[in-house]
Order: sequence, then C-alpha cells, then structure tokens
Amino acid sequence: MVVGAGPGGCATALALVRRGIRVTLLEKARFPRDKVCGDVLLPAAIESLEALGLPIRELEARVHPNTGCRYRLLGSAEVSATYRDHHGRARASWTMPRHQFDAWLASHTRLAGARLLEEETVTEVVPGNGSGPCCLTVRQRDGTVRGVSADFVVGADGASSAVARDLGCLRHPPEHTCVALRTYAHGVRLPDPFLEIFTAPHLLPGCAWILPVGPETVNVGLGVLKSTAQRLGSNPAALFRQALESMPTLRQRMEGARWEPWRGWHLPGATEQRVCGKGRVLLVGDAGAMVDPFTGHGIHHALQAGRLAGSILADHLSGSMSGDPATRYANEVAALLGREIIPGSQLQRLHARPGLVRLALPLARIHPGLRSLMMALVGHSAERHELLSPRNLIASCLQLSEKRVLV
Ligand SMILES: Cc1cc2nc3c(=O)[nH]c(=O)nc-3n(C[C@H](O)[C@H](O)[C@H](O)COP(=O)(O)OP(=O)(O)OC[C@H]3O[C@@H](n4cnc5c(N)ncnc54)[C@H](O)[C@@H]3O)c2cc1C
Repeated sequence: MVVGAGPGGCATALALVRRGIRVTLLEKARFPRDKVCGDVLLPAAIESLEALGLPIRELEARVHPNTGCRYRLLGSAEVSATYRDHHGRARASWTMPRHQFDAWLASHTRLAGARLLEEETVTEVVPGNGSGPCCLTVRQRDGTVRGVSADFVVGADGASSAVARDLGCLRHPPEHTCVALRTYAHGVRLPDPFLEIFTAPHLLPGCAWILPVGPETVNVGLGVLKSTAQRLGSNPAALFRQALESMPTLRQRMEGARWEPWRGWHLPGATEQRVCGKGRVLLVGDAGAMVDPFTGHGIHHALQAGRLAGSILADHLSGSMSGDPATRYANEVAALLGREIIPGSQLQRLHARPGLVRLALPLARIHPGLRSLMMALVGHSAERHELLSPRNLIASCLQLSEKRVLV
C-alpha cells in the first residue's frame, strides 16, 4: 500500500508494477491538484522518470526550459551563467507547474497498472509489529471511514505525512525545515529563461525567486529556514513584501504583474537525517525529509527513493531477498542520497555566511570558471561529486573564458 501519489508515491508504484507486483495508491486529492513548488525538474529527475519507463519526450514537448541562473545579493555584485555540467556542456532543467506534472505522472502510473484511488485520506496508521500487518484508517470522499490492512506501507504523503507522524518521526526542527510561500504571476517578461534569485544577508541561506514557467507566466516565491524566520520574528509573506520594497530589480520585474493568490508550505530538509524505514513502513520523499538542503529541490530525491523502495519491496515479495526490507531501504537510501546531501549541507552552511557570499560574488563576476561552477551548483546541472571533483575544480579555476574546453 502506498500513501500519496506525488512523485515519491508514483515512483514507488511504478517500480513495483514494472516487476509485476500489484500495488494500490491512496491519494487524498483528485488530480489535477496544485502542489506548492518551484516547479523545476532537475536533470536528475528527468533521468529517474526515464529509468521508470515513462515517455519523457511527451513531457518534453510541454515543459519550459530553465537554462541558467542569475543571482543577486542585496548590496553586492550580480552574477549569472548558463547551466553547464562537469564537461562544460550546456544542460537545462525543465519547468512545469506541478498541477500539470503530477497529473501527467499519476495518469501514467495508472496506465502502467497501479490502482490509484483518489480522494482517499489516510488519517491513522498503526505500524505492524514484526510479523503482523499494518492497519490504516482511511477517510473516503463521502466522509465514510474504512479500515485497511497492508503487509507493507510506503509513506509518500509529503511534508505533513500522516505515516511519518504515526511512526513518531515528524518534528519539523527549525534549523532543518524551510518555510516558504509561492504564487504564479502573469504578464511578466524576463530577459531569458533563467531562474532569478534575489536575496539579502538576513535571509541567507534563504532567498526569493522568479522563474519563467510559461510565456509571460512566472513562478514567484520566497523560502527561508524556519530558524531564520523565528530569529527575525517574521514570516515568508512579510519577508517577501520587504524584499519587494528593498530590491529595485525584483520590483521592476514584477511591475504590472497579475498575481494569483499566495500559498505557503514547508520543506523538510535532508540534514534532519530522518529514519526512513522501520518495521513494515518505508518513508519516501518529503515524508522521509529528503529535500536538498542547499537548493530546496526534492522531486528528484522523491523519485530516486521511490524507485529504490519499490525495487527492494519487489525483491522481498518475490522471494529474491532475505532479511528486513525496511532496514535495507533505510541504509541504501541514506547511501544513495548521501552523495548529494552531504556536500549539499556543506554548501548550505557556506551560503549562510554573508561575508563569504559577498567575497565570492565579485570574484565570480570576473572569473568565468568560478561563475559557471557556482551556477551549476545552484542549478544542480550535474551531480555534486562530479562538479566538486578535484579535476572539475582545477578545470574551473583554469577556465578564463566563457567557453570551456571539454575535459
Ligand atoms: C516553495 C517550494 C518550492 C519547491 N521547489 C522545488 C523545485 O523547484 N524543484 C524540486 O525538485 N523540488 C522543489 N520543492 C520540493 C518538492 O516540492 C518536494 O520535495 C516534492 O514534491 C516531494 O514529493 P513527494 O512525492 O515526497 O511529496 P508531495 O509532492 O508532497 O506528494 C505527496 C502526496 O501525498 C498526498 N497526501 C498527503 N497526505 C495524505 C494522506 N494523509 N493520505 C493520502 N494522501 C495524502 C498529497 O495530496 C500529495 O499528492 C519545493 C518545495 C516547496 C515547498
């Protein structure tokens, strides 16, 4: 049984049905539904969708490219660059509003053979004790409540996960949780398909952003650590209003925009190191606190973890694996995502230091290699261990013109 049919739940279900295992997803919403997000599909997310056997060319025809990033710190230099991978090749992300992307993913999950039940909210989970099954309480669309039992439960029900709560691991620690808000604005023209980041020393490592997601439509938002908001005695809405007042370029970009209503949400950062497998329950994506601490991206991790959870459960259910699947999943997901999350948490700590950022920006402005490396890290255009490898660091230092010699 999979709870939640976002990226994490759909990836889990797809990995199971591709191995011939029957699976049911319980989803509280009805698609298409909105999800507060920056709407960026990183190259790593696209790779996971492809590995799950999804027709990504169909998706490609509908997305908007995000080809680079422009970064501004109030009172300091502005830096921008096209996203490049560790070979110096241009590598774009895709953007697509989540109400479209998630509906596409859910419909393909259903087409692949998963049983997806919408408007079914899991309100309580009693995790199985060793050999016994898990018991779930489900509220249906008409308000009736039913009980369901399942050998295994995958909690993929997002940042306020009922499954994680009933497992006793939903705490939202302020230093590991980001609070954010987002809206769409229409009638906004940006000079290029770049993510624009606007920040100020007191917001770091948080920021405000504008990102084109369609012709003259942008995704706009602001996210800061919950501990930052508490220290400032403020909230994301007030901080965005202040940013608009104090940052002339942000104000100018949004002049004459037609705004949709704002929506708030929170991001459980992977630095929390939540235990993601216990007994007969596995946590995937935001339910398992897997959001990248440096950039706030989490779709790629939800997809990767879902694939892993599905494949481990398929091994177990088909008898090709002995031992406890939840422990194996907890260990393997920590190893798989740790390669990105460990450097991500170091980058987050560096980005929290205004003095360092003030020093790095003018240097990056005059040094193309450093500029390109910084924006590749922000845009996550290649894996971090590739971008931060000694070979790539040396190549970046030696790169003195915009064009990179392929290494
Ligand atoms: C402001 C903001 C900006 C972000 N920007 C980006 C970005 O640009 N790129 C990126 O990669 N990531 C981004 N993220 C993170 C990303 O949104 C999440 O990491 C990602 O959605 C996690 O996927 P998931 O499947 O784990 O959870 P979700 O996408 O939250 O899906 C959970 C699903 O479970 C369902 N559900 C919830 N509770 C229940 C229940 N009790 N019973 C049944 N179903 C339930 C929900 O309806 C939902 O469909 C952003 C997040 C925020 C808040």
